[in-house]
Amino acid sequence: MKKVAVIFNGGTISMKVDERIQAAVPSLSGEEIMAMVTGIESYAKIESHTFSDLPSPHVTPELMLELSKKVRALVEREDIDGVVITHGTDTLEETAYLLDLTLITNKPVVITGAMRSSSELGYDGPANLAASICTAISEEAKGRGVLVCFNGELNSAREVTKANSMALNAFRTPNFGPIGIVDNNNVIFYRKCPKGKHIVIDKLNSHIALIKCVAGMDEEFINFAIDKGYKGIVIEAMGRGNIPPKMVEGVKRAINNNIPVVVVSRCFEGRVFESYGYEGGGKNLRDIGVIFGDNMQGQKVRIKLMVALSHSSNMKFIKEFVEDGLY
Ligand code: ASP
Repeated sequence: MKKVAVIFNGGTISMKVDERIQAAVPSLSGEEIMAMVTGIESYAKIESHTFSDLPSPHVTPELMLELSKKVRALVEREDIDGVVITHGTDTLEETAYLLDLTLITNKPVVITGAMRSSSELGYDGPANLAASICTAISEEAKGRGVLVCFNGELNSAREVTKANSMALNAFRTPNFGPIGIVDNNNVIFYRKCPKGKHIVIDKLNSHIALIKCVAGMDEEFINFAIDKGYKGIVIEAMGRGNIPPKMVEGVKRAINNNIPVVVVSRCFEGRVFESYGYEGGGKNLRDIGVIFGDNMQGQKVRIKLMVALSHSSNMKFIKEFVEDGLY
């Protein structure tokens, strides 16, 4: 029988409502959660680990890298066939992508959680954990990078984002939909996800700003980021990758200061492209030396830029790494 390491790492899946404050707080141990995944012993041997009991807004990039190192040690063990990790849902996509970029393994690594705490009717933690364990033992799930499993749907860490603040199927892949499903404990994949490069890093350079464009914006926030010593800037631009003209000088200043600027769209779907030649248009930004992040969400491409910058500050390398696996 295959063996799966389950890392308990906080989030709503480990929470219950505290009667005094009438709000959910971390309470359940890994053993208590696992006991609710009834019948799983017929599918896999489980080895439980505890990493944290944090809600995801408390998770930092540095903790994500520590978790990546823990997972690396587990997948290097011959007796472990796959790893499942619990996580709060708010920053789950960022951790999933950092793990995906920094782990080199064929073994399935699956991240899950819950949208409802154990005090709510329809607590979804045990079902998500069961489906994740089924994925971790699946031959089909090998070599697909880190997967996110919720509500019987599998999404790739590269593509997934939390698209709904309360639905059980909160995790979605914009543009394409899930890459697979867990049906009756069987894992079925419907398509591939483009693979990018992976790098093993030991330290993280996490000082990367994310700026969302709004009408009439100027260069003030970009200048603030430069002056505060940020090492990289992600801009969630408008539409196809365009910014207001008053931001352009700031972008130029950042690039002249060797600070990489990555542009994605604030639109939920679609990709950026050098369609427009006016001041601040995508073509204008490309000519200045901006990196394009294809169809990625700002918070995800920030993680990719972070990993790139943690490996090297060479602009050519950073551009190639960030654009690798994108179109
Ligand atoms: N706010 C919670 C967290 O991200 C939500 C969840 O886990 O679903 O930790």
